[in-house]
Amino acid sequence: MRLTIIGTGYVGIVSAACFSEFGHVVTCVDIDANRIAEYNAGHVPIFEPGLGDLINRNVKGDRLSFTTDLAEGVKDAEAVFIAVGTPSRRGDGHADLSYVFAAVRDLAKLVPEGCVIVNKSTVPVGTASEVEAILAEVVPGKTVHVVSNPEFLREGSAIEDFLRPDRVVVGVSSESARKVMAEIYRPLFLRETPILFTDCRTAEVIKYAANAFLSVKIAFINEIADLCETVGADVKGVAKGIGMDRRIGNKFLNPGPGYGGSCFPKDTLALLRTAEQANAKLRIVQATVDANDDRKKEMARRVIAACGGSVEGKTIGILGLTFKPNTDDMRDAPSLVVIPELQKAGAKVRAYDPEGRPAAEKMLPDVEFVSNAYQAVEDAAAVVLLTEWNEFRALNLDRVRGLLRNPLFIDLRNVYEPEDMARAGFHYISIGRSPAG
Ligand code: NAD
Repeated sequence: MRLTIIGTGYVGIVSAACFSEFGHVVTCVDIDANRIAEYNAGHVPIFEPGLGDLINRNVKGDRLSFTTDLAEGVKDAEAVFIAVGTPSRRGDGHADLSYVFAAVRDLAKLVPEGCVIVNKSTVPVGTASEVEAILAEVVPGKTVHVVSNPEFLREGSAIEDFLRPDRVVVGVSSESARKVMAEIYRPLFLRETPILFTDCRTAEVIKYAANAFLSVKIAFINEIADLCETVGADVKGVAKGIGMDRRIGNKFLNPGPGYGGSCFPKDTLALLRTAEQANAKLRIVQATVDANDDRKKEMARRVIAACGGSVEGKTIGILGLTFKPNTDDMRDAPSLVVIPELQKAGAKVRAYDPEGRPAAEKMLPDVEFVSNAYQAVEDAAAVVLLTEWNEFRALNLDRVRGLLRNPLFIDLRNVYEPEDMARAGFHYISIGRSPAG
């Protein structure tokens, strides 16, 4: 099939590469000419494991191409996927749909009759109807089908998630759109991936409800971790014990510095705004958002407390800046709250992240960025492990201890075991477990 993807960010490029891997012929369109030039030069402007190889293979096979020319990009498309950003609107937290609507207006006249326009961006309930209204205004009488096909991939394991999803959700309002979508996803269907066909509104709510539920799970285990600390229990054991109950499940029960990233913070906020407009109460989601906002600041307070109540003039070594490992995405990362809070309290911050540095440099002023973990901890009053990159899982602990001014290791991801760290000579502070050393 001939598909077009509008937007070549994390979701757009991964969808495009994977659809071409299915055998479809995919054209990617972006308004960012630099991005398209990079793809055309064989570079991948984002970090996602395995993505470069997948793109190269399909470009060589003539199934994947890149352009800034929308007319050229959509002229033969059987389906056009919109995968542009839907960030939080400044000030009110609503999803900013201006990029989606602009894309629809631009492509309305250019797509062939009978084309399917697919919202892959995360968009609030009712957006498919709004897209239909724009089409009716710009190209009255033209047959174009609107579909909602939210994306559930996770950065860092995006390709695996796209090729082997738990399910695909497709909201449709016509039988012909349903057939086109079934054909696009046929390779997954053959692998017995459940494909849930529903209406557009339900599909739109599914995406937000899924992200909100996962956010609730994280905020919940974070609060249980706080309880464990004060009553002398071990949150890892608690998470294991509750996770063995299949009604609960063992995923998303790792306590940490609060959720971040390009989805959970903005999607929970947007869902709250939708609920407000609909006069529906989402008290659990509201509590989750509040708890998570507070948690990021609380992590800085903990670091300060562990440093004897003051970090004035002290150097703090930070390991990891991205919101999670295996991505270069810094959007809403906990580091963007923790580090400025430490700086406000007078700390000097030295940081290392394997992939996040280019983006972090633009977002974190006055941080000294270094090129490995050991440089980050040199002469520091404490080391704070903020993102659990694999390379931080097997640090040379003797070397770290020797480089630090104080042997204080604050592990906000529970990568290490308290007993091992005590044995290695650290004062070790982690999440939801008794301090050691
Ligand atoms: P992104 O910001 O990384 O990329 C968006 C791209 O769209 C940019 O390259 C931008 O130049 C391009 N763009 C904007 N307007 C355009 C236009 N009119 N024509 C062509 N290109 C245009 O965004 P992302 O992280 O890939 O997210 C895209 C959507 O997918 C969002 O709604 C997001 O919530 C959702 N989503 C993201 C993830 C994730 O992990 N990043 C997961 C699931 C869903």
